Amino acid sequence: MTQITDLPNNDSGNGWANTLPPRLACSPLSEDISCDWLVIGAGFAGLAAARRLSENNPEDRVVIVDACKVGDGASARNSGFVIDLPHNVGSDLDNLDMQHRSLRLARAAVTQLEDIVQTNAIDCQWSHRGQYMAAASDKGEAVLDGFSSGLDALGESYQKVSADDLNSAIGTSYYRRAIFTPGTILMQPAALVCGLADTLPESVELYEDTPVTSSRFGSPHQFSTPNGSIRARQVILAVNGFAPAFNILKGRVFSLQLLASMTRVLSDGELVKLGCEPDWGLVPALPFGGPTMRLTQDRRLVMRSVFSYRHSRHVSAGQYQKAGALQARQIQARFGALPAGIIKHTWAGNITLSQNFAPGFGKQADGVYSAVCQNGVGVTKGTISGILAADLASGRDNPLISDMETLGVPCRLPPRPFLDLGITAKLKWWVRSSRVDG
Ligand SMILES: Cc1cc2nc3c(=O)[nH]c(=O)nc-3n(C[C@H](O)[C@H](O)[C@H](O)COP(=O)(O)OP(=O)(O)OC[C@H]3O[C@@H](n4cnc5c(N)ncnc54)[C@H](O)[C@@H]3O)c2cc1C
Repeated sequence: MTQITDLPNNDSGNGWANTLPPRLACSPLSEDISCDWLVIGAGFAGLAAARRLSENNPEDRVVIVDACKVGDGASARNSGFVIDLPHNVGSDLDNLDMQHRSLRLARAAVTQLEDIVQTNAIDCQWSHRGQYMAAASDKGEAVLDGFSSGLDALGESYQKVSADDLNSAIGTSYYRRAIFTPGTILMQPAALVCGLADTLPESVELYEDTPVTSSRFGSPHQFSTPNGSIRARQVILAVNGFAPAFNILKGRVFSLQLLASMTRVLSDGELVKLGCEPDWGLVPALPFGGPTMRLTQDRRLVMRSVFSYRHSRHVSAGQYQKAGALQARQIQARFGALPAGIIKHTWAGNITLSQNFAPGFGKQADGVYSAVCQNGVGVTKGTISGILAADLASGRDNPLISDMETLGVPCRLPPRPFLDLGITAKLKWWVRSSRVDG
Protein backbone atom coordinates (compact mmCIF):
# COMPACT_ATOMS: atom_id res chain seq x y z
CA MET A 1 0.00 0.00 0.00
CA THR A 2 1.18 3.58 -0.69
CA GLN A 3 0.65 5.70 2.43
CA ILE A 4 -0.83 9.11 1.57
CA THR A 5 0.43 11.73 3.98
CA ASP A 6 0.17 14.82 1.75
CA LEU A 7 -3.43 15.73 2.57
CA PRO A 8 -5.38 18.98 2.13
CA ASN A 9 -5.25 21.37 5.05
CA ASN A 10 -7.55 24.28 4.20
CA ASP A 11 -7.83 27.45 6.28
CA SER A 12 -11.25 28.54 7.52
CA GLY A 13 -11.10 32.03 6.00
CA ASN A 14 -12.80 31.40 2.64
CA GLY A 15 -15.17 34.35 2.23
CA TRP A 16 -17.18 32.64 -0.51
CA ALA A 17 -18.02 29.71 1.78
CA ASN A 18 -18.36 31.78 4.94
CA THR A 19 -21.03 34.05 3.42
CA LEU A 20 -23.27 31.16 2.28
CA PRO A 21 -26.12 29.73 4.34
CA PRO A 22 -25.01 26.55 6.17
CA ARG A 23 -25.09 23.40 4.06
CA LEU A 24 -25.73 19.85 5.26
CA ALA A 25 -22.61 17.91 4.25
CA CYS A 26 -22.71 14.21 3.33
CA SER A 27 -21.47 11.80 6.01
CA PRO A 28 -17.95 10.40 5.94
CA LEU A 29 -17.47 6.79 4.82
CA SER A 30 -17.83 4.52 7.86
CA GLU A 31 -17.74 0.98 6.41
CA ASP A 32 -15.90 -1.23 3.92
CA ILE A 33 -17.42 -0.95 0.44
CA SER A 34 -16.88 -2.17 -3.12
CA CYS A 35 -17.86 -0.17 -6.17
CA ASP A 36 -17.51 -0.15 -9.92
CA TRP A 37 -16.15 3.38 -10.07
CA LEU A 38 -14.34 5.49 -7.49
CA VAL A 39 -13.69 9.19 -8.03
CA ILE A 40 -11.22 10.71 -5.57
CA GLY A 41 -11.64 14.49 -5.13
CA ALA A 42 -14.89 16.46 -5.26
CA GLY A 43 -13.84 19.71 -6.91
CA PHE A 44 -14.94 20.72 -10.41
CA ALA A 45 -13.04 17.80 -11.99
CA GLY A 46 -14.27 15.07 -9.65
CA LEU A 47 -17.89 16.23 -9.58
CA ALA A 48 -17.99 16.40 -13.38
CA ALA A 49 -16.41 12.93 -13.62
CA ALA A 50 -18.86 11.34 -11.15
CA ARG A 51 -21.89 12.87 -12.88
CA ARG A 52 -20.72 11.69 -16.28
CA LEU A 53 -19.83 8.19 -15.04
CA SER A 54 -23.35 7.73 -13.74
CA GLU A 55 -24.78 8.89 -17.09
CA ASN A 56 -22.46 6.56 -18.99
CA ASN A 57 -22.98 3.57 -16.69
CA PRO A 58 -26.44 3.88 -15.12
CA GLU A 59 -26.38 0.36 -13.62
CA ASP A 60 -22.98 0.78 -11.93
CA ARG A 61 -22.14 1.85 -8.37
CA VAL A 62 -20.34 5.22 -8.56
CA VAL A 63 -18.68 6.54 -5.40
CA ILE A 64 -16.95 9.92 -4.93
CA VAL A 65 -14.94 10.84 -1.83
CA ASP A 66 -13.27 14.03 -0.67
CA ALA A 67 -10.85 14.59 2.18
CA CYS A 68 -12.78 17.73 3.16
CA LYS A 69 -16.24 19.20 2.82
CA VAL A 70 -17.17 20.13 -0.72
CA GLY A 71 -17.09 23.89 -0.15
CA ASP A 72 -13.59 23.75 1.37
CA GLY A 73 -11.27 23.02 -1.55
CA ALA A 74 -9.71 25.18 -4.27
CA SER A 75 -12.86 24.87 -6.37
CA ALA A 76 -14.72 26.92 -3.75
CA ARG A 77 -11.82 29.35 -3.16
CA ASN A 78 -11.22 30.78 -6.61
CA SER A 79 -12.15 34.15 -8.07
CA GLY A 80 -15.27 32.85 -9.81
CA PHE A 81 -14.25 33.48 -13.44
CA VAL A 82 -15.57 30.76 -15.77
CA ILE A 83 -13.04 31.42 -18.51
CA ASP A 84 -13.55 30.35 -22.10
CA LEU A 85 -10.40 31.79 -23.73
CA PRO A 86 -7.05 29.97 -23.69
CA HIS A 87 -4.50 31.48 -21.27
CA ASN A 88 -1.94 32.31 -23.94
CA VAL A 89 -4.01 34.24 -26.51
CA GLY A 90 -1.65 36.63 -28.25
CA SER A 91 1.57 35.04 -27.05
CA ASP A 92 1.38 31.99 -29.29
CA LEU A 93 0.00 33.07 -32.65
CA ASP A 94 1.85 30.18 -34.36
CA ASN A 95 -0.28 27.65 -32.57
CA LEU A 96 -3.82 28.64 -33.49
CA ASP A 97 -4.90 25.01 -33.86
CA MET A 98 -4.06 24.35 -30.21
CA GLN A 99 -5.90 27.51 -29.16
CA HIS A 100 -9.01 26.50 -31.11
CA ARG A 101 -8.90 23.12 -29.36
CA SER A 102 -8.60 24.82 -25.96
CA LEU A 103 -11.56 27.05 -26.82
CA ARG A 104 -13.69 24.07 -27.85
CA LEU A 105 -12.86 22.32 -24.60
CA ALA A 106 -13.56 25.36 -22.43
CA ARG A 107 -16.83 26.14 -24.20
CA ALA A 108 -18.01 22.54 -23.80
CA ALA A 109 -17.37 22.94 -20.05
CA VAL A 110 -19.27 26.24 -19.94
CA THR A 111 -22.23 24.65 -21.73
CA GLN A 112 -22.23 21.71 -19.32
CA LEU A 113 -22.01 23.91 -16.22
CA GLU A 114 -24.68 26.29 -17.49
CA ASP A 115 -26.99 23.42 -18.25
CA ILE A 116 -26.63 22.01 -14.71
CA VAL A 117 -27.00 25.46 -13.12
CA GLN A 118 -30.18 26.18 -15.06
CA THR A 119 -31.74 22.72 -14.83
CA ASN A 120 -31.27 22.63 -11.08
CA ALA A 121 -31.76 26.35 -10.45
CA ILE A 122 -28.43 26.51 -8.58
CA ASP A 123 -28.29 29.89 -6.85
CA CYS A 124 -24.65 30.89 -7.54
CA GLN A 125 -24.73 34.39 -9.05
CA TRP A 126 -24.16 32.84 -12.51
CA SER A 127 -24.01 35.74 -14.97
CA HIS A 128 -22.89 36.42 -18.53
CA ARG A 129 -21.03 39.58 -17.55
CA GLY A 130 -17.79 38.95 -19.47
CA GLN A 131 -14.48 40.25 -18.13
CA TYR A 132 -12.17 43.23 -18.46
CA MET A 133 -8.45 42.77 -18.96
CA ALA A 134 -6.95 46.08 -17.90
CA ALA A 135 -3.55 47.78 -18.10
CA ALA A 136 -2.05 50.53 -15.98
CA SER A 137 1.38 50.82 -17.66
CA ASP A 138 3.18 50.73 -21.03
CA LYS A 139 4.07 47.10 -20.39
CA GLY A 140 0.47 46.22 -19.60
CA GLU A 141 -0.74 48.07 -22.71
CA ALA A 142 1.71 46.06 -24.85
CA VAL A 143 0.12 42.87 -23.44
CA LEU A 144 -3.34 44.19 -24.36
CA ASP A 145 -2.14 44.83 -27.93
CA GLY A 146 -0.88 41.25 -28.18
CA PHE A 147 -4.14 40.01 -26.68
CA SER A 148 -6.27 41.84 -29.25
CA SER A 149 -4.09 40.53 -32.13
CA GLY A 150 -4.55 37.04 -30.73
CA LEU A 151 -8.32 37.49 -30.51
CA ASP A 152 -8.37 38.80 -34.12
CA ALA A 153 -6.44 35.72 -35.26
CA LEU A 154 -8.85 33.44 -33.41
CA GLY A 155 -11.87 35.30 -34.81
CA GLU A 156 -13.14 36.08 -31.30
CA SER A 157 -15.16 39.20 -30.58
CA TYR A 158 -14.03 41.83 -28.04
CA GLN A 159 -14.34 45.51 -27.29
CA LYS A 160 -11.61 48.07 -26.65
CA VAL A 161 -12.55 50.01 -23.52
CA SER A 162 -11.20 53.52 -22.80
CA ALA A 163 -10.16 54.63 -19.30
CA ASP A 164 -13.35 56.71 -19.02
CA ASP A 165 -15.64 53.87 -20.04
CA LEU A 166 -13.87 51.50 -17.67
CA ASN A 167 -14.29 54.04 -14.90
CA SER A 168 -18.04 54.16 -15.57
CA ALA A 169 -18.24 50.38 -15.59
CA ILE A 170 -16.18 49.50 -12.53
CA GLY A 171 -15.75 52.75 -10.62
CA THR A 172 -12.01 53.42 -10.87
CA SER A 173 -9.82 55.58 -13.09
CA TYR A 174 -6.74 53.56 -12.08
CA TYR A 175 -6.32 51.86 -15.46
CA ARG A 176 -5.30 53.35 -18.82
CA ARG A 177 -7.49 51.08 -20.92
CA ALA A 178 -8.91 47.57 -21.12
CA ILE A 179 -10.19 44.87 -23.42
CA PHE A 180 -13.62 43.44 -22.71
CA THR A 181 -14.26 39.82 -23.70
CA PRO A 182 -17.90 38.75 -23.46
CA GLY A 183 -17.49 34.96 -23.10
CA THR A 184 -16.40 34.81 -19.45
CA ILE A 185 -19.10 33.96 -16.94
CA LEU A 186 -18.93 35.20 -13.35
CA MET A 187 -20.23 33.18 -10.41
CA GLN A 188 -19.95 32.49 -6.67
CA PRO A 189 -17.59 29.49 -6.62
CA ALA A 190 -18.54 27.98 -3.25
CA ALA A 191 -22.23 28.21 -4.13
CA LEU A 192 -21.60 26.62 -7.52
CA VAL A 193 -19.46 23.74 -6.32
CA CYS A 194 -21.83 22.96 -3.42
CA GLY A 195 -24.75 23.16 -5.87
CA LEU A 196 -23.00 20.72 -8.21
CA ALA A 197 -22.45 18.29 -5.33
CA ASP A 198 -25.99 18.61 -4.00
CA THR A 199 -27.53 17.90 -7.42
CA LEU A 200 -25.45 14.83 -8.33
CA PRO A 201 -27.59 12.04 -9.78
CA GLU A 202 -29.09 9.86 -7.05
CA SER A 203 -27.02 6.88 -8.13
CA VAL A 204 -23.80 8.69 -7.13
CA GLU A 205 -22.71 8.21 -3.49
CA LEU A 206 -20.74 11.15 -2.11
CA TYR A 207 -18.69 10.84 1.09
CA GLU A 208 -17.24 14.05 2.51
CA ASP A 209 -14.54 14.39 5.20
CA THR A 210 -13.16 11.11 3.85
CA PRO A 211 -9.44 11.39 3.10
CA VAL A 212 -7.91 8.50 1.19
CA THR A 213 -4.92 7.65 3.37
CA SER A 214 -3.48 4.71 1.46
CA SER A 215 -3.84 3.29 -2.01
CA ARG A 216 -2.92 0.17 -3.94
CA PHE A 217 -3.63 0.12 -7.65
CA GLY A 218 -4.42 -3.39 -8.88
CA SER A 219 -7.39 -5.59 -9.55
CA PRO A 220 -9.40 -4.39 -7.72
CA HIS A 221 -7.87 -1.06 -6.66
CA GLN A 222 -7.87 -0.74 -2.87
CA PHE A 223 -8.03 2.36 -0.74
CA SER A 224 -8.15 3.08 2.99
CA THR A 225 -9.90 5.97 4.70
CA PRO A 226 -9.97 6.64 8.48
CA ASN A 227 -13.22 4.69 9.06
CA GLY A 228 -13.68 2.45 6.06
CA SER A 229 -12.07 0.97 2.96
CA ILE A 230 -12.97 1.00 -0.72
CA ARG A 231 -12.37 -1.63 -3.39
CA ALA A 232 -12.99 -0.26 -6.87
CA ARG A 233 -12.89 -1.72 -10.36
CA GLN A 234 -11.88 1.60 -11.92
CA VAL A 235 -10.75 4.89 -10.42
CA ILE A 236 -10.57 8.50 -11.57
CA LEU A 237 -8.11 10.62 -9.66
CA ALA A 238 -9.38 14.22 -9.46
CA VAL A 239 -7.19 15.52 -6.64
CA ASN A 240 -5.34 18.16 -8.69
CA GLY A 241 -2.01 18.97 -6.95
CA PHE A 242 -2.27 15.97 -4.62
CA ALA A 243 -1.85 13.47 -7.47
CA PRO A 244 1.88 12.88 -6.73
CA ALA A 245 0.88 11.55 -3.28
CA PHE A 246 -0.79 8.70 -5.20
CA ASN A 247 2.40 8.19 -7.25
CA ILE A 248 0.70 9.76 -10.27
CA LEU A 249 2.53 12.53 -12.19
CA LYS A 250 5.27 12.60 -9.54
CA GLY A 251 7.91 15.19 -10.46
CA ARG A 252 5.71 16.65 -13.20
CA VAL A 253 3.27 19.01 -11.44
CA PHE A 254 3.64 21.62 -8.72
CA SER A 255 1.30 23.93 -6.77
CA LEU A 256 1.38 27.65 -6.05
CA GLN A 257 -0.57 29.25 -3.22
CA LEU A 258 -2.81 32.20 -4.06
CA LEU A 259 -4.23 34.54 -1.44
CA ALA A 260 -7.50 36.40 -1.79
CA SER A 261 -9.60 38.79 0.29
CA MET A 262 -13.28 39.75 0.38
CA THR A 263 -14.83 42.91 1.85
CA ARG A 264 -18.04 43.29 3.76
CA VAL A 265 -21.19 44.16 1.78
CA LEU A 266 -20.84 47.68 0.35
CA SER A 267 -23.64 50.07 1.28
CA ASP A 268 -25.96 51.84 -1.18
CA GLY A 269 -24.04 55.07 -0.50
CA GLU A 270 -20.67 53.44 -1.16
CA LEU A 271 -21.93 52.00 -4.44
CA VAL A 272 -23.22 55.42 -5.47
CA LYS A 273 -19.81 56.91 -4.69
CA LEU A 274 -18.14 54.28 -6.89
CA GLY A 275 -20.69 55.01 -9.60
CA CYS A 276 -20.77 51.45 -10.91
CA GLU A 277 -23.15 48.52 -11.06
CA PRO A 278 -22.54 45.44 -8.91
CA ASP A 279 -21.25 42.38 -10.75
CA TRP A 280 -18.11 42.88 -12.79
CA GLY A 281 -14.77 41.08 -13.07
CA LEU A 282 -11.33 42.39 -14.01
CA VAL A 283 -8.02 40.63 -14.58
CA PRO A 284 -4.70 42.47 -14.87
CA ALA A 285 -2.97 42.50 -18.27
CA LEU A 286 0.24 41.26 -16.62
CA PRO A 287 -0.81 38.16 -14.66
CA PHE A 288 1.53 39.04 -11.77
CA GLY A 289 1.02 42.78 -12.18
CA GLY A 290 -1.92 43.55 -9.93
CA PRO A 291 -5.08 42.18 -8.44
CA THR A 292 -7.74 40.13 -10.14
CA MET A 293 -10.91 41.84 -8.91
CA ARG A 294 -14.63 41.17 -8.66
CA LEU A 295 -17.58 43.15 -7.44
CA THR A 296 -20.12 40.45 -6.67
CA GLN A 297 -23.87 40.58 -7.12
CA ASP A 298 -24.15 40.76 -3.34
CA ARG A 299 -21.90 43.86 -3.40
CA ARG A 300 -18.62 42.55 -2.03
CA LEU A 301 -15.23 43.37 -3.52
CA VAL A 302 -12.98 40.36 -3.97
CA MET A 303 -9.25 40.83 -4.58
CA ARG A 304 -6.74 38.12 -5.50
CA SER A 305 -3.20 39.30 -5.82
CA VAL A 306 -0.59 37.23 -4.08
CA PHE A 307 1.27 34.17 -5.31
CA SER A 308 3.58 32.21 -3.10
CA TYR A 309 5.39 28.90 -3.42
CA ARG A 310 6.04 26.44 -0.62
CA HIS A 311 6.46 22.78 -1.44
CA SER A 312 4.57 22.00 1.80
CA ARG A 313 1.76 24.38 0.74
CA HIS A 314 1.97 25.89 4.23
CA VAL A 315 0.86 29.54 4.38
CA SER A 316 2.10 31.33 7.49
CA ALA A 317 0.08 33.75 9.63
CA GLY A 318 2.44 36.49 8.42
CA GLN A 319 1.61 35.73 4.78
CA TYR A 320 -2.13 36.06 5.44
CA GLN A 321 -1.52 39.36 7.21
CA LYS A 322 0.73 40.67 4.43
CA ALA A 323 -1.77 39.63 1.74
CA GLY A 324 -4.71 41.26 3.54
CA ALA A 325 -2.72 44.48 4.03
CA LEU A 326 -1.63 44.56 0.37
CA GLN A 327 -5.18 43.95 -0.83
CA ALA A 328 -6.45 46.73 1.46
CA ARG A 329 -3.88 49.11 -0.11
CA GLN A 330 -4.91 47.96 -3.58
CA ILE A 331 -8.56 48.74 -2.78
CA GLN A 332 -7.59 52.19 -1.51
CA ALA A 333 -5.45 52.88 -4.61
CA ARG A 334 -8.37 52.04 -6.89
CA PHE A 335 -11.46 52.95 -4.89
CA GLY A 336 -10.33 55.85 -2.68
CA ALA A 337 -13.95 56.73 -1.82
CA LEU A 338 -14.29 53.52 0.20
CA PRO A 339 -13.34 53.58 3.87
CA ALA A 340 -10.37 51.59 5.22
CA GLY A 341 -10.89 48.37 7.19
CA ILE A 342 -13.61 46.83 5.03
CA ILE A 343 -11.85 43.51 4.33
CA LYS A 344 -13.59 40.77 6.29
CA HIS A 345 -12.13 37.52 4.93
CA THR A 346 -8.65 36.51 3.71
CA TRP A 347 -7.88 32.99 2.54
CA ALA A 348 -5.41 30.90 0.57
CA GLY A 349 -5.87 28.23 -2.07
CA ASN A 350 -3.79 26.19 -4.47
CA ILE A 351 -3.42 26.21 -8.19
CA THR A 352 -1.55 23.34 -9.82
CA LEU A 353 0.65 23.80 -12.86
CA SER A 354 2.97 21.93 -15.17
CA GLN A 355 6.01 23.57 -16.72
CA ASN A 356 4.60 23.20 -20.24
CA PHE A 357 1.02 24.02 -19.17
CA ALA A 358 -0.15 20.56 -20.26
CA PRO A 359 -3.01 18.93 -18.34
CA GLY A 360 -2.56 15.80 -16.21
CA PHE A 361 -5.25 14.01 -18.15
CA GLY A 362 -5.64 10.44 -19.33
CA LYS A 363 -5.06 6.79 -18.58
CA GLN A 364 -2.30 6.28 -16.02
CA ALA A 365 -2.51 2.49 -15.56
CA ASP A 366 -5.08 -0.27 -16.07
CA GLY A 367 -8.36 1.11 -14.71
CA VAL A 368 -6.68 4.29 -13.41
CA TYR A 369 -7.46 7.65 -15.02
CA SER A 370 -6.55 11.20 -14.03
CA ALA A 371 -8.18 14.60 -14.43
CA VAL A 372 -5.68 16.84 -12.66
CA CYS A 373 -3.32 19.79 -13.19
CA GLN A 374 -5.72 22.49 -14.43
CA ASN A 375 -2.99 25.13 -14.77
CA GLY A 376 -4.92 27.74 -12.79
CA VAL A 377 -8.10 27.71 -14.90
CA GLY A 378 -9.82 24.82 -13.19
CA VAL A 379 -13.45 25.84 -13.46
CA THR A 380 -13.57 25.06 -17.16
CA LYS A 381 -10.45 22.89 -17.49
CA GLY A 382 -11.31 20.84 -14.41
CA THR A 383 -14.90 20.36 -15.54
CA ILE A 384 -13.98 19.23 -19.03
CA SER A 385 -11.14 16.99 -17.88
CA GLY A 386 -13.52 15.26 -15.46
CA ILE A 387 -16.12 14.69 -18.19
CA LEU A 388 -13.55 13.41 -20.66
CA ALA A 389 -11.79 11.17 -18.13
CA ALA A 390 -15.20 9.57 -17.47
CA ASP A 391 -15.80 9.13 -21.21
CA LEU A 392 -12.32 7.71 -21.81
CA ALA A 393 -12.70 5.28 -18.91
CA SER A 394 -16.22 4.25 -20.00
CA GLY A 395 -15.16 3.73 -23.63
CA ARG A 396 -17.57 6.46 -24.79
CA ASP A 397 -16.52 8.05 -28.05
CA ASN A 398 -16.06 11.82 -27.68
CA PRO A 399 -14.12 13.87 -30.26
CA LEU A 400 -13.05 16.28 -27.51
CA ILE A 401 -10.82 13.53 -26.04
CA SER A 402 -8.41 14.01 -28.93
CA ASP A 403 -8.50 17.80 -28.42
CA MET A 404 -7.52 17.19 -24.81
CA GLU A 405 -4.79 14.72 -25.70
CA THR A 406 -3.29 17.14 -28.22
CA LEU A 407 -2.56 19.54 -25.34
CA GLY A 408 0.24 17.12 -24.32
CA VAL A 409 1.33 15.70 -21.00
CA PRO A 410 3.17 17.47 -18.17
CA CYS A 411 6.93 17.41 -18.81
CA ARG A 412 9.40 16.30 -16.14
CA LEU A 413 10.40 19.01 -13.64
CA PRO A 414 13.91 19.43 -12.27
CA PRO A 415 14.49 17.55 -9.00
CA ARG A 416 14.19 19.30 -5.65
CA PRO A 417 15.80 21.48 -4.28
CA PHE A 418 16.55 22.86 -7.79
CA LEU A 419 12.81 22.93 -8.48
CA ASP A 420 12.10 24.97 -5.33
CA LEU A 421 14.92 27.42 -6.08
CA GLY A 422 13.85 27.74 -9.72
CA ILE A 423 10.18 28.38 -8.96
CA THR A 424 10.97 30.86 -6.18
CA ALA A 425 13.38 32.79 -8.42
CA LYS A 426 10.97 32.81 -11.37
CA LEU A 427 8.08 33.97 -9.19
CA LYS A 428 10.20 36.84 -7.81
CA TRP A 429 11.22 37.83 -11.33
CA TRP A 430 7.63 37.72 -12.63
CA VAL A 431 6.38 39.82 -9.71
CA ARG A 432 9.25 42.35 -9.99
CA SER A 433 8.96 42.73 -13.75
CA SER A 434 5.16 43.14 -13.53
CA ARG A 435 5.14 45.63 -10.64
CA VAL A 436 4.87 48.62 -13.00
CA ASP A 437 1.31 47.53 -13.77
CA GLY A 438 0.15 46.88 -10.25
C1 LIG B 1 -7.53 32.24 -5.06
C2 LIG B 1 -7.75 31.43 -6.32
C3 LIG B 1 -8.35 32.03 -7.42
C4 LIG B 1 -8.61 31.27 -8.58
N1 LIG B 1 -9.36 31.83 -9.58
C5 LIG B 1 -9.80 31.06 -10.58
C6 LIG B 1 -10.76 31.56 -11.51
O1 LIG B 1 -11.26 32.67 -11.38
N2 LIG B 1 -11.14 30.74 -12.53
C7 LIG B 1 -10.66 29.46 -12.67
O2 LIG B 1 -11.01 28.77 -13.63
N3 LIG B 1 -9.78 28.94 -11.77
C8 LIG B 1 -9.36 29.70 -10.73
N4 LIG B 1 -8.53 29.16 -9.78
C9 LIG B 1 -8.09 27.76 -9.93
C10 LIG B 1 -9.20 26.77 -9.62
O3 LIG B 1 -9.80 27.02 -8.39
C11 LIG B 1 -8.63 25.35 -9.63
O4 LIG B 1 -7.92 25.15 -10.83
C12 LIG B 1 -9.76 24.32 -9.54
O5 LIG B 1 -10.44 24.45 -8.34
C13 LIG B 1 -9.21 22.92 -9.68
O6 LIG B 1 -10.32 22.03 -9.60
P1 LIG B 1 -10.05 20.48 -9.35
O7 LIG B 1 -11.36 19.85 -9.21
O8 LIG B 1 -9.09 19.98 -10.34
O9 LIG B 1 -9.24 20.47 -7.96
P2 LIG B 1 -9.68 20.87 -6.47
O10 LIG B 1 -10.76 21.85 -6.44
O11 LIG B 1 -8.41 21.17 -5.75
O12 LIG B 1 -10.28 19.50 -5.95
C14 LIG B 1 -9.46 18.43 -5.57
C15 LIG B 1 -10.09 17.80 -4.36
O13 LIG B 1 -9.33 16.63 -4.02
C16 LIG B 1 -9.43 16.48 -2.63
N5 LIG B 1 -8.34 15.59 -2.18
C17 LIG B 1 -7.00 15.79 -2.24
N6 LIG B 1 -6.34 14.75 -1.70
C18 LIG B 1 -7.28 13.86 -1.30
C19 LIG B 1 -7.24 12.59 -0.65
N7 LIG B 1 -6.07 12.01 -0.31
N8 LIG B 1 -8.41 11.96 -0.39
C20 LIG B 1 -9.61 12.51 -0.73
N9 LIG B 1 -9.69 13.73 -1.33
C21 LIG B 1 -8.55 14.38 -1.62
C22 LIG B 1 -9.32 17.90 -2.09
O14 LIG B 1 -9.86 18.01 -0.79
C23 LIG B 1 -10.08 18.71 -3.13
O15 LIG B 1 -11.39 19.00 -2.74
C24 LIG B 1 -8.20 29.91 -8.63
C25 LIG B 1 -7.58 29.32 -7.54
C26 LIG B 1 -7.37 30.05 -6.39
C27 LIG B 1 -6.73 29.38 -5.21
